[in-house]
Amino acid sequence: MPIKIKMADISITNLCNLKCKHCGAYVNNKINNTDLKKEIFYKIFNDLNKHECRFIIFSGGEPFVRKDFIDILQHLDILGIKYCILSNGTLITEEIVDKLTTLSNLAFVRISIDFFNFEVFSKWRGINLKDHDFYNVFGWLKAANIPYGVGMTILPENINDIHALLIKSKELGAFFFRGIPVIPIGRASKFKLDSEFYYECFKTMLIAKATHEKRVMRTLLLPEEIGDLYKEVIFCCGGAESEISIDSDGSVSTCPLLKSNPSFGNIVNLPLSEIIPKIRHWKNKTQEAILNDKIDPCWECSDKPECKAGCLTEILSRPGEKLQSMCLKLFWQRIFNEIVVTPDCRRAVNSILYDMQINSKNTLVRDCYRSFPLWKVTLRDNAIF
Ligand code: SF4
Ligand code: SF4
Repeated sequence: MPIKIKMADISITNLCNLKCKHCGAYVNNKINNTDLKKEIFYKIFNDLNKHECRFIIFSGGEPFVRKDFIDILQHLDILGIKYCILSNGTLITEEIVDKLTTLSNLAFVRISIDFFNFEVFSKWRGINLKDHDFYNVFGWLKAANIPYGVGMTILPENINDIHALLIKSKELGAFFFRGIPVIPIGRASKFKLDSEFYYECFKTMLIAKATHEKRVMRTLLLPEEIGDLYKEVIFCCGGAESEISIDSDGSVSTCPLLKSNPSFGNIVNLPLSEIIPKIRHWKNKTQEAILNDKIDPCWECSDKPECKAGCLTEILSRPGEKLQSMCLKLFWQRIFNEIVVTPDCRRAVNSILYDMQINSKNTLVRDCYRSFPLWKVTLRDNAIF
Protein backbone atom coordinates (compact mmCIF):
# COMPACT_ATOMS: atom_id res chain seq x y z
CA MET A 1 0.00 0.00 0.00
CA PRO A 2 1.52 3.39 -0.95
CA ILE A 3 1.83 5.98 1.82
CA LYS A 4 -1.05 8.44 1.45
CA ILE A 5 -0.14 12.10 0.92
CA LYS A 6 -3.22 14.30 0.78
CA MET A 7 -1.57 17.45 -0.43
CA ALA A 8 1.68 18.70 -2.00
CA ASP A 9 3.27 22.13 -2.11
CA ILE A 10 5.29 22.55 -5.28
CA SER A 11 7.63 25.44 -5.87
CA ILE A 12 7.57 25.40 -9.65
CA THR A 13 10.45 27.87 -9.93
CA ASN A 14 12.97 29.50 -7.63
CA LEU A 15 12.97 32.65 -9.76
CA CYS A 16 10.98 35.77 -9.05
CA ASN A 17 10.63 39.17 -10.69
CA LEU A 18 10.24 40.93 -7.32
CA LYS A 19 12.37 41.44 -4.21
CA CYS A 20 9.83 41.59 -1.36
CA LYS A 21 11.55 42.46 1.90
CA HIS A 22 9.81 39.65 3.80
CA CYS A 23 10.21 36.87 1.21
CA GLY A 24 10.62 33.52 2.92
CA ALA A 25 11.29 31.60 -0.27
CA TYR A 26 14.90 30.79 -0.98
CA VAL A 27 14.80 32.83 -4.12
CA ASN A 28 17.85 33.57 -6.22
CA ASN A 29 16.40 36.39 -8.28
CA LYS A 30 17.59 35.06 -11.62
CA ILE A 31 21.13 34.38 -10.44
CA ASN A 32 20.88 30.65 -10.23
CA ASN A 33 18.19 28.78 -12.11
CA THR A 34 17.99 25.20 -10.87
CA ASP A 35 14.37 24.63 -11.95
CA LEU A 36 13.48 21.19 -13.22
CA LYS A 37 12.30 20.75 -16.79
CA LYS A 38 8.56 20.32 -17.30
CA GLU A 39 8.95 16.64 -18.28
CA ILE A 40 10.42 15.91 -14.83
CA PHE A 41 7.42 17.58 -13.21
CA TYR A 42 5.15 15.27 -15.22
CA LYS A 43 6.92 12.30 -13.61
CA ILE A 44 6.57 13.93 -10.18
CA PHE A 45 2.81 14.32 -10.75
CA ASN A 46 2.54 10.61 -11.58
CA ASP A 47 4.42 9.75 -8.41
CA LEU A 48 2.16 12.03 -6.34
CA ASN A 49 -0.87 10.44 -7.97
CA LYS A 50 0.33 7.01 -6.82
CA HIS A 51 0.35 8.39 -3.28
CA GLU A 52 -3.26 9.52 -3.74
CA CYS A 53 -2.39 13.24 -3.63
CA ARG A 54 -5.62 15.18 -4.29
CA PHE A 55 -4.45 18.78 -4.11
CA ILE A 56 -1.34 20.71 -5.16
CA ILE A 57 -0.42 24.26 -4.15
CA PHE A 58 1.82 25.85 -6.79
CA SER A 59 4.07 28.65 -5.65
CA GLY A 60 7.60 29.85 -6.32
CA GLY A 61 9.43 32.20 -6.63
CA GLU A 62 6.76 33.55 -8.94
CA PRO A 63 5.08 30.71 -10.89
CA PHE A 64 4.34 32.89 -13.94
CA VAL A 65 8.05 33.55 -14.47
CA ARG A 66 7.97 30.11 -16.14
CA LYS A 67 6.76 30.42 -19.70
CA ASP A 68 5.73 26.74 -19.70
CA PHE A 69 3.68 26.97 -16.48
CA ILE A 70 0.29 26.67 -18.18
CA ASP A 71 1.54 23.69 -20.26
CA ILE A 72 2.55 22.01 -17.00
CA LEU A 73 -0.91 22.60 -15.51
CA GLN A 74 -2.63 21.33 -18.67
CA HIS A 75 -0.65 18.13 -18.33
CA LEU A 76 -1.62 17.83 -14.66
CA ASP A 77 -5.29 18.15 -15.64
CA ILE A 78 -5.05 14.67 -17.21
CA LEU A 79 -4.60 13.16 -13.74
CA GLY A 80 -7.60 14.94 -12.23
CA ILE A 81 -5.64 16.36 -9.27
CA LYS A 82 -6.97 19.76 -8.17
CA TYR A 83 -4.60 22.68 -7.63
CA CYS A 84 -4.29 26.36 -6.81
CA ILE A 85 -1.75 29.02 -7.75
CA LEU A 86 -0.09 31.49 -5.38
CA SER A 87 1.19 34.47 -7.34
CA ASN A 88 2.40 38.04 -6.82
CA GLY A 89 0.03 38.96 -9.66
CA THR A 90 2.40 41.25 -11.54
CA LEU A 91 3.09 38.92 -14.49
CA ILE A 92 -0.51 37.82 -15.11
CA THR A 93 -1.77 39.34 -18.35
CA GLU A 94 -5.21 39.20 -19.95
CA GLU A 95 -3.81 36.59 -22.33
CA ILE A 96 -2.65 34.40 -19.44
CA VAL A 97 -6.07 34.68 -17.80
CA ASP A 98 -7.58 33.47 -21.10
CA LYS A 99 -5.33 30.43 -20.95
CA LEU A 100 -6.26 29.79 -17.32
CA THR A 101 -9.87 29.36 -18.44
CA THR A 102 -8.79 26.25 -20.40
CA LEU A 103 -7.75 24.48 -17.20
CA SER A 104 -10.23 22.04 -15.73
CA ASN A 105 -8.89 21.53 -12.18
CA LEU A 106 -7.80 25.00 -11.15
CA ALA A 107 -9.47 25.67 -7.78
CA PHE A 108 -8.35 29.27 -7.33
CA VAL A 109 -5.62 31.85 -7.84
CA ARG A 110 -4.37 33.70 -4.76
CA ILE A 111 -2.67 37.03 -5.29
CA SER A 112 -0.61 38.77 -2.65
CA ILE A 113 -1.34 42.28 -1.45
CA ASP A 114 0.63 43.14 1.66
CA PHE A 115 0.04 46.86 2.15
CA PHE A 116 -2.99 49.07 1.62
CA ASN A 117 -0.95 52.06 0.44
CA PHE A 118 0.14 51.10 -3.08
CA GLU A 119 3.29 53.23 -3.07
CA VAL A 120 4.48 51.63 0.16
CA PHE A 121 3.55 48.20 -1.23
CA SER A 122 5.51 48.77 -4.47
CA LYS A 123 8.60 49.98 -2.62
CA TRP A 124 8.39 46.95 -0.34
CA ARG A 125 8.34 44.66 -3.37
CA GLY A 126 11.04 46.56 -5.25
CA ILE A 127 8.89 47.23 -8.31
CA ASN A 128 7.76 50.35 -10.09
CA LEU A 129 4.15 49.65 -11.00
CA LYS A 130 1.01 51.78 -11.25
CA ASP A 131 -1.86 50.69 -9.00
CA HIS A 132 -4.40 50.44 -11.85
CA ASP A 133 -2.00 48.24 -13.84
CA PHE A 134 -1.70 45.87 -10.89
CA TYR A 135 -5.39 45.79 -9.88
CA ASN A 136 -6.45 45.03 -13.50
CA VAL A 137 -5.69 41.37 -12.89
CA PHE A 138 -8.63 41.04 -10.47
CA GLY A 139 -11.02 42.38 -13.14
CA TRP A 140 -9.73 39.88 -15.71
CA LEU A 141 -10.07 36.95 -13.29
CA LYS A 142 -13.58 38.09 -12.39
CA ALA A 143 -14.62 38.43 -16.05
CA ALA A 144 -13.19 34.96 -16.76
CA ASN A 145 -15.10 33.44 -13.83
CA ILE A 146 -11.95 32.13 -12.17
CA PRO A 147 -12.16 32.06 -8.36
CA TYR A 148 -9.52 34.24 -6.72
CA GLY A 149 -8.48 35.45 -3.33
CA VAL A 150 -6.10 37.90 -1.70
CA GLY A 151 -3.17 36.74 0.41
CA MET A 152 -1.45 38.98 2.94
CA THR A 153 1.67 38.18 4.93
CA ILE A 154 1.20 39.91 8.28
CA LEU A 155 4.26 41.85 9.45
CA PRO A 156 4.86 44.34 12.25
CA GLU A 157 4.88 46.98 9.46
CA ASN A 158 1.42 46.16 8.06
CA ILE A 159 -0.65 44.60 10.85
CA ASN A 160 -2.73 47.80 11.02
CA ASP A 161 -3.64 47.43 7.31
CA ILE A 162 -5.64 44.22 7.76
CA HIS A 163 -9.09 45.82 7.94
CA ALA A 164 -8.44 48.21 5.02
CA LEU A 165 -7.12 45.34 2.90
CA LEU A 166 -10.19 43.27 3.70
CA ILE A 167 -12.41 46.07 2.47
CA LYS A 168 -10.22 46.41 -0.64
CA SER A 169 -10.45 42.63 -1.23
CA LYS A 170 -14.25 42.84 -1.13
CA GLU A 171 -14.17 45.72 -3.63
CA LEU A 172 -11.96 43.62 -5.90
CA GLY A 173 -14.55 40.83 -5.78
CA ALA A 174 -12.24 38.35 -4.03
CA PHE A 175 -13.77 35.11 -2.79
CA PHE A 176 -11.56 35.10 0.28
CA PHE A 177 -8.85 36.96 2.15
CA ARG A 178 -6.03 35.15 3.84
CA GLY A 179 -3.80 36.92 6.35
CA ILE A 180 -1.08 34.94 8.08
CA PRO A 181 1.84 35.93 10.29
CA VAL A 182 5.22 35.98 8.58
CA ILE A 183 7.67 33.27 9.58
CA PRO A 184 11.23 34.48 10.29
CA ILE A 185 12.91 32.68 7.40
CA GLY A 186 14.67 33.95 4.27
CA ARG A 187 14.66 37.74 4.07
CA ALA A 188 12.19 37.87 6.98
CA SER A 189 14.75 36.46 9.42
CA LYS A 190 15.69 40.01 10.37
CA PHE A 191 12.25 40.88 11.78
CA LYS A 192 11.50 40.77 15.49
CA LEU A 193 8.68 38.26 15.62
CA ASP A 194 8.07 37.07 19.15
CA SER A 195 5.02 35.37 20.61
CA GLU A 196 3.43 38.77 21.42
CA PHE A 197 3.47 39.65 17.71
CA TYR A 198 1.98 36.26 16.86
CA TYR A 199 -0.72 36.80 19.47
CA GLU A 200 -1.52 40.25 18.00
CA CYS A 201 -1.95 38.58 14.58
CA PHE A 202 -4.29 36.01 16.12
CA LYS A 203 -6.37 38.70 17.83
CA THR A 204 -6.52 41.05 14.83
CA MET A 205 -7.54 38.25 12.47
CA LEU A 206 -10.25 37.03 14.85
CA ILE A 207 -11.72 40.54 15.09
CA ALA A 208 -11.38 40.94 11.29
CA LYS A 209 -13.17 37.64 10.71
CA ALA A 210 -15.94 38.62 13.12
CA THR A 211 -16.32 42.00 11.38
CA HIS A 212 -16.04 41.09 7.71
CA GLU A 213 -17.17 37.50 7.29
CA LYS A 214 -20.93 37.20 7.01
CA ARG A 215 -20.94 33.54 6.30
CA VAL A 216 -23.97 31.37 6.79
CA MET A 217 -23.44 27.67 7.47
CA ARG A 218 -25.10 24.96 9.43
CA THR A 219 -25.02 25.73 13.11
CA LEU A 220 -22.64 23.96 15.40
CA LEU A 221 -23.43 23.87 19.07
CA LEU A 222 -21.04 26.30 20.67
CA PRO A 223 -20.59 26.20 24.44
CA GLU A 224 -21.54 29.30 26.43
CA GLU A 225 -17.85 29.95 27.16
CA ILE A 226 -16.15 29.68 23.77
CA GLY A 227 -12.79 30.35 25.41
CA ASP A 228 -13.08 26.85 26.90
CA LEU A 229 -12.91 25.39 23.38
CA TYR A 230 -9.14 25.72 23.53
CA LYS A 231 -9.15 22.52 25.61
CA GLU A 232 -10.67 20.59 22.72
CA VAL A 233 -8.38 21.78 19.95
CA ILE A 234 -5.06 20.24 19.00
CA PHE A 235 -2.75 21.95 16.52
CA CYS A 236 -0.02 19.66 15.32
CA CYS A 237 2.26 19.56 12.30
CA GLY A 238 1.13 17.55 9.28
CA GLY A 239 4.37 18.08 7.38
CA ALA A 240 5.51 14.76 5.85
CA GLU A 241 2.33 13.14 7.15
CA SER A 242 -0.59 14.53 5.18
CA GLU A 243 1.45 17.05 3.21
CA ILE A 244 4.80 17.15 1.47
CA SER A 245 6.80 19.92 -0.15
CA ILE A 246 8.78 19.69 -3.40
CA ASP A 247 11.19 22.42 -4.38
CA SER A 248 11.85 23.57 -7.95
CA ASP A 249 15.08 21.51 -8.07
CA GLY A 250 13.29 18.34 -6.91
CA SER A 251 14.37 18.40 -3.27
CA VAL A 252 11.67 17.22 -0.90
CA SER A 253 10.86 18.56 2.54
CA THR A 254 8.20 18.37 5.25
CA CYS A 255 6.83 21.75 4.36
CA PRO A 256 7.72 24.67 2.02
CA LEU A 257 8.83 26.71 4.99
CA LEU A 258 11.52 24.28 6.09
CA LYS A 259 14.70 23.93 4.05
CA SER A 260 15.02 20.43 2.72
CA ASN A 261 17.83 18.28 3.97
CA PRO A 262 20.01 16.83 1.15
CA SER A 263 20.10 13.49 2.98
CA PHE A 264 16.38 12.99 2.29
CA GLY A 265 17.17 12.52 -1.41
CA ASN A 266 15.88 14.25 -4.50
CA ILE A 267 12.71 13.21 -6.28
CA VAL A 268 14.58 13.27 -9.60
CA ASN A 269 16.56 10.20 -8.50
CA LEU A 270 14.37 8.60 -5.84
CA PRO A 271 10.65 7.82 -5.65
CA LEU A 272 8.59 9.42 -2.91
CA SER A 273 8.08 5.98 -1.36
CA GLU A 274 11.78 6.04 -0.42
CA ILE A 275 12.01 9.70 0.53
CA ILE A 276 8.92 10.03 2.75
CA PRO A 277 10.05 7.47 5.39
CA LYS A 278 13.40 9.30 5.70
CA ILE A 279 11.66 12.64 6.21
CA ARG A 280 9.26 11.19 8.75
CA HIS A 281 12.17 9.66 10.64
CA TRP A 282 13.97 13.03 10.71
CA LYS A 283 10.79 14.78 11.81
CA ASN A 284 10.11 12.33 14.67
CA LYS A 285 13.69 12.61 15.91
CA THR A 286 13.61 16.41 15.69
CA GLN A 287 10.33 16.67 17.58
CA GLU A 288 11.60 14.27 20.22
CA ALA A 289 14.78 16.31 20.70
CA ILE A 290 12.78 19.53 20.94
CA LEU A 291 10.47 18.16 23.58
CA ASN A 292 13.39 16.67 25.55
CA ASP A 293 14.84 20.15 25.55
CA LYS A 294 12.00 21.25 27.85
CA ILE A 295 10.77 23.77 25.33
CA ASP A 296 8.45 26.56 26.56
CA PRO A 297 5.48 26.41 27.02
CA CYS A 298 5.16 22.73 26.03
CA TRP A 299 7.17 20.76 28.50
CA GLU A 300 4.44 20.56 31.15
CA CYS A 301 1.52 20.40 28.72
CA SER A 302 -0.76 17.37 28.69
CA ASP A 303 -1.34 17.72 24.91
CA LYS A 304 2.36 17.34 24.21
CA PRO A 305 2.15 13.67 23.07
CA GLU A 306 -0.24 14.57 20.24
CA CYS A 307 0.72 18.16 19.48
CA LYS A 308 4.51 17.69 19.75
CA ALA A 309 5.06 21.43 20.21
CA GLY A 310 3.15 22.50 17.11
CA CYS A 311 4.70 24.10 14.05
CA LEU A 312 8.23 22.82 13.48
CA THR A 313 9.19 25.79 11.32
CA GLU A 314 8.12 28.26 14.00
CA ILE A 315 10.43 26.55 16.47
CA LEU A 316 13.40 25.90 14.20
CA SER A 317 13.38 29.30 12.53
CA ARG A 318 14.49 31.13 15.64
CA PRO A 319 18.10 30.03 16.05
CA GLY A 320 20.13 31.52 18.86
CA GLU A 321 17.15 32.09 21.12
CA LYS A 322 15.79 29.63 23.65
CA LEU A 323 13.45 27.33 21.75
CA GLN A 324 9.86 28.44 22.04
CA SER A 325 6.65 27.21 20.47
CA MET A 326 3.96 29.61 19.24
CA CYS A 327 1.12 27.84 21.02
CA LEU A 328 -2.15 28.65 19.22
CA LYS A 329 -4.02 26.83 21.96
CA LEU A 330 -2.73 29.22 24.62
CA PHE A 331 -3.44 32.22 22.37
CA TRP A 332 -7.02 30.95 22.07
CA GLN A 333 -7.35 30.69 25.85
CA ARG A 334 -5.86 34.16 26.39
CA ILE A 335 -7.85 36.03 23.78
CA PHE A 336 -11.25 35.05 25.15
CA ASN A 337 -10.20 36.34 28.56
CA GLU A 338 -9.29 39.67 27.01
CA ILE A 339 -11.98 40.54 24.47
CA VAL A 340 -15.71 41.06 24.73
CA VAL A 341 -17.33 38.09 22.99
CA THR A 342 -19.94 39.59 20.66
CA PRO A 343 -22.45 37.59 18.55
CA ASP A 344 -20.21 38.30 15.51
CA CYS A 345 -17.29 36.83 17.38
CA ARG A 346 -19.30 33.69 18.18
CA ARG A 347 -20.20 33.43 14.50
CA ALA A 348 -16.50 33.70 13.58
CA VAL A 349 -15.62 30.91 16.01
CA ASN A 350 -18.46 28.83 14.60
CA SER A 351 -17.02 29.34 11.12
CA ILE A 352 -13.55 28.26 12.32
CA LEU A 353 -14.93 25.10 13.93
CA TYR A 354 -17.02 24.31 10.87
CA ASP A 355 -13.96 24.47 8.59
CA MET A 356 -11.88 22.47 11.03
CA GLN A 357 -14.55 19.82 11.10
CA ILE A 358 -15.04 19.52 7.36
CA ASN A 359 -11.34 19.56 6.57
CA SER A 360 -10.23 17.10 9.17
CA LYS A 361 -11.00 13.45 9.85
CA ASN A 362 -10.49 14.05 13.50
CA THR A 363 -13.03 16.63 14.57
CA LEU A 364 -10.90 19.38 16.07
CA VAL A 365 -7.37 18.41 15.15
CA ARG A 366 -5.63 20.80 12.82
CA ASP A 367 -2.58 19.39 11.12
CA CYS A 368 -0.83 22.59 10.08
CA TYR A 369 -0.73 26.00 11.72
CA ARG A 370 -0.86 27.64 8.31
CA SER A 371 -4.18 26.00 7.47
CA PHE A 372 -5.92 27.10 10.69
CA PRO A 373 -9.22 28.60 9.40
CA LEU A 374 -8.72 31.69 11.58
CA TRP A 375 -6.30 32.99 8.94
CA LYS A 376 -8.97 32.94 6.22
CA VAL A 377 -11.94 35.28 5.87
CA THR A 378 -14.56 34.04 3.43
CA LEU A 379 -15.95 37.00 1.53
CA ARG A 380 -18.59 35.35 -0.59
CA ASP A 381 -21.42 33.38 0.98
CA ASN A 382 -20.58 29.72 1.39
CA ALA A 383 -17.44 29.87 -0.73
CA ILE A 384 -15.17 27.18 0.69
CA PHE A 385 -11.45 27.20 -0.09
S1 SF4 B 1 1.90 24.03 25.01
FE1 SF4 B 1 3.08 23.09 23.32
S2 SF4 B 1 2.48 20.93 23.33
FE2 SF4 B 1 0.93 22.05 24.50
S3 SF4 B 1 -0.67 22.54 23.03
FE3 SF4 B 1 0.75 24.30 23.12
S4 SF4 B 1 2.20 23.95 21.43
FE4 SF4 B 1 1.18 22.00 21.87
S1 SF4 C 1 2.77 23.11 11.10
FE1 SF4 C 1 4.52 24.44 10.46
S2 SF4 C 1 6.21 23.03 9.95
FE2 SF4 C 1 4.30 21.83 10.03
S3 SF4 C 1 3.57 21.75 7.93
FE3 SF4 C 1 2.56 23.50 8.90
S4 SF4 C 1 3.86 25.31 8.50
FE4 SF4 C 1 5.06 23.45 8.06
